[in-house]
Amino acid sequence: MFTSLMQQRPLMISSIIEFAERWYPDVEVVSRTTEGPIHRYTYKEMGQRCRKMALALSKLGVSQGDRVGTLAWNGYRHLELYYSVSGSGAVLHTINPRLFAEQMAYVIDHAGDKVIFTDLTFIPILENLLENLGEKLNKIEHIVVMTDRDNMPQSKLDNLHCYEDLLIAESGDYQWPEFDENAASSICYTSGTTGNPKGVVYSHRSTLIHAMGSSVPNGLGLSGNDSILLVVPQFHVNAWGVSYAGPMNGCKLVLPGPAMDGKSIHELLDLEQCSLSLAVPTIWMMLTAYLKESGAQLPHMNRVVIGGSAVPEAMIRSFEQDYDVQVIHAWGMTETSPLGTLNFLLPHLQELDYEAQMETKLKQGKTVFGIDIRIVDDKNNTLPHDGVAFGKLQARGHWVTSAYYGEEPCIDSDGWFDTGDVATIDKDGYMMITDRTKDVIKSGGEWISSIELENIAVGHPNIVEAAVIAIAHPKWDERPLLIAVTQPDTKLEKVELLDYVAERVAKWQIPDDVQFVDELPHGATGKLNKLKLREDFKDYKFPGT
Ligand code: ADP
Repeated sequence: MFTSLMQQRPLMISSIIEFAERWYPDVEVVSRTTEGPIHRYTYKEMGQRCRKMALALSKLGVSQGDRVGTLAWNGYRHLELYYSVSGSGAVLHTINPRLFAEQMAYVIDHAGDKVIFTDLTFIPILENLLENLGEKLNKIEHIVVMTDRDNMPQSKLDNLHCYEDLLIAESGDYQWPEFDENAASSICYTSGTTGNPKGVVYSHRSTLIHAMGSSVPNGLGLSGNDSILLVVPQFHVNAWGVSYAGPMNGCKLVLPGPAMDGKSIHELLDLEQCSLSLAVPTIWMMLTAYLKESGAQLPHMNRVVIGGSAVPEAMIRSFEQDYDVQVIHAWGMTETSPLGTLNFLLPHLQELDYEAQMETKLKQGKTVFGIDIRIVDDKNNTLPHDGVAFGKLQARGHWVTSAYYGEEPCIDSDGWFDTGDVATIDKDGYMMITDRTKDVIKSGGEWISSIELENIAVGHPNIVEAAVIAIAHPKWDERPLLIAVTQPDTKLEKVELLDYVAERVAKWQIPDDVQFVDELPHGATGKLNKLKLREDFKDYKFPGT
């Protein structure tokens, strides 16, 4: 090999905060605190406090590779832990506070958390866990409340510390260590709708490359002009990596704390002149409802990133046509750090009129450099990019996991990770999710998309919500059953609804039956819980079978 003469410096998370502190010292981080007031400071102050916390962590006995859990909303202290914990060589485990008690105890135990940092809000949850599931929490040596002395609670928790007291005791005279860039930096557990949550372990290297890869113009297009309202939780996939990409690009960061209602979100967007914000569709439903009712506008915002589940067409139209905010539809998952694809329009699509663009805007988008995707059939043959063929969506790249923590590898010999989604890819490379692998209906060797049938059913004016699940069938293996909730005080016959669907799909895709229910079950992240539905309908048989 003719060896290059370039420097080989490990990609370290600490280098991001060092950079922001040194080159964007006056850029602000603004947080709505759990205590109430708005807090603001600069990257300069943040960098100093991160170094103090790194020193405090070592006094608590945290050393390289130790896991440190957080139970916290989006706020400046949480952001500091992203850098002080990972930067000092320990591993940040951001715990989803919406997990059920048993799952929360499971992830704390499984990750082996030695210290837990908690917002005031979650003290009762921790007390309850320690009382009822204490044996699972026996590795925890310290609990740090992310507040100051004045707001410290009365609590029966042992080894309780106050975040600000820990900082006061430190000088900040600390040099970030350099070590192997493949060392673990953080852990995030998947939501675990089936079985126990699974741990995805990110590295310094994967995190930095993901932050750089997602910052580019065909990605989030971040720059020092941006003021970003980070609504997507810091406990969920590192707030889609923006906790790193923001400071890396000298962006102002605005962190909303626990207040996610439309009015509070709008207040921050307005006061802090945010140009960009990121969240799941549910949050944007609340914001657009608030905007409609109050008449408020979004004069500073120029783009909104929406992912986590498919963006409804009405939401794209509302943002783009009523408020002049560009929608960037994104797809990803915990296992992909999370950025997989983002929707931006190629030049020839920009030339089309708005109605013609909509077909593409509804898709989940194109990959950015650093991650690759493909679709395959049941026998692992790759499928064409024609926008019609749909198959299992697979991904590989610098920021895609190769295994879950404590488990065997979950990729094939070429590095492809099966996402569990079913998708099409069109000739321009736009990917569209059509279903989850476990939800698709396999009828006589053909696949029927449950999501497509659900979207059609909810288009009926008398239907509020609909789900389609597979039911075993003696001849076809599986056939679709439509389960629907009707508008209150309306009467709808099964055949009327099936006729409505029949006008919009091929004959063999029409559900074999309809069941009306009062409500449909949902999981912890608000998504339809089809597992529960399948259980509820496990004894159901189609008429005549
Ligand atoms: P979350 O908890 O946000 O659902 P997960 O990693 O648990 O994150 O889930 C990822 C899954 O969410 C994806 O595999 C996909 O099924 C779904 N998803 C994410 N983004 C989109 C999107 N834009 N459209 C449709 N589904 C999406």
